[in-house]
Amino acid sequence: MNRIYLDYASATPLDPRVASAMEPYLRAKFGNPSSLHREGQEAMAALDKSRETVMNLIGAKFNEVIFTSSATEANNLALRGTVKQIKNLKIKNQNDKSKFKDFKPRIIVSAIEHESILETAADLERDGVEVVRVPVDRRGLVDLEKFKKALNENTILVSIMYANNETGVVQNISEISKIIRNFRNSKSQIPNNKQISNSNDKNQKNGLRFGAWDLVINKGYPLFHTDAVQAFQYLDCNVDALGVDLMTLSSQKIYGPKGAGALYVRNLKSQIPNNKQISNSNNKKNSNLDLELGAWDLSSVKPMMTGGGQEFELRSGTENIPAIVGFAKAAELLSNSRELESRRVGKLRDYLWAKIKKSVPAVRLNGDAAKRLPNNLNVYFPGTSAEEMLIRLDMDGVAISAGSACAARSLEPSHVLMAMGFNEERAKGSVRFTLGRSTTKIEIDKLIKILRRR
Ligand code: PLP
Repeated sequence: MNRIYLDYASATPLDPRVASAMEPYLRAKFGNPSSLHREGQEAMAALDKSRETVMNLIGAKFNEVIFTSSATEANNLALRGTVKQIKNLKIKNQNDKSKFKDFKPRIIVSAIEHESILETAADLERDGVEVVRVPVDRRGLVDLEKFKKALNENTILVSIMYANNETGVVQNISEISKIIRNFRNSKSQIPNNKQISNSNDKNQKNGLRFGAWDLVINKGYPLFHTDAVQAFQYLDCNVDALGVDLMTLSSQKIYGPKGAGALYVRNLKSQIPNNKQISNSNNKKNSNLDLELGAWDLSSVKPMMTGGGQEFELRSGTENIPAIVGFAKAAELLSNSRELESRRVGKLRDYLWAKIKKSVPAVRLNGDAAKRLPNNLNVYFPGTSAEEMLIRLDMDGVAISAGSACAARSLEPSHVLMAMGFNEERAKGSVRFTLGRSTTKIEIDKLIKILRRR
């Protein structure tokens, strides 16, 4: 019996073209990219080429793409790395008797994030970081008014996902980044770069005192991170258009291999005065700023792991070249087919929904009807247990999911549906169909017949 796979949000099969691109690096081209000999250089060239592909696709700079082992690791690096950098800066500036002496950093996340964000935030909370979880409405969209209210001067990071893995609901990322930018700009009490170079010590005459801490905290923060793991397959992920400082990507959701992810890390250097600007400012009293700002020369995050300093010192460990090459190939293929494929699966998904509604009138759609990924259909079948339905469909040859892959292993109701205001019965009675490249109309028709038999 041919299986009907409708769980592409959990994992996608390896595209044969990706497998071919990886093959030489699994066998003959085995060098370590840190080695100086020819074998090493060959691996380094493949790594550079892969980075260029991903970088071009998201509009990043070369050293802003950090390869990781997974999206989970990238999400951890975004959150933990930002907090670590702030702590580092705080230590460096402990002589600065500014108002940030007793600073308690705040992180804002949405209530519907993937576990790799929510659990990381909870862990940081146990270490003294304040975590605000912004609610979503019944459609699964982040409450922007509540979000605005959650921003305060201690906020160092906002992490809101681009598209949800359970419902496929797409957040208005550029609108959220606009709110963050406006908030940053409203912190006007701190001089900007130009003011500093022109100051000739004017700030001191005015009795204002500023250090690296004040400058950074006030101008560059909060940073904005988005988990674009599910969105990448179908939506444009240009970092400037989205207005994000950090962005997580995954290989295994775009027909690439498991074992590769990436974190985009915006280089903050341009946002804060550089050493030269500061020395030119004749602000002698702050001459130690040169030293303090050194920490910001590269990026906004500090590494979680220490070691060989790979990935621009942000992610130590020998790079998984075959997986990274595969990830880049998958990204390249995606960029050529994104729009066409979005339209194709969108039509099939709408067809499936129309047919389900016709045969089970009581069925309900979870999540905004328009603002969602084209391949996702998350539905509530009243009076049904999602687990039971999943198992029965599996026996009928159909693979679907109850909630996310991780949630499916537990009997807990989906935290995403609960956050949307649905009761436990609905959160436990909803299933997710996610279509993909191999999904055909014949498969959808077969599925509809199976559902009617139930
Ligand atoms: N973020 C989102 C939105 C996801 O859907 C997933 C996986 O399903 C992840 C992060 C974590 O990905 P991985 O398990 O590959 O690390």
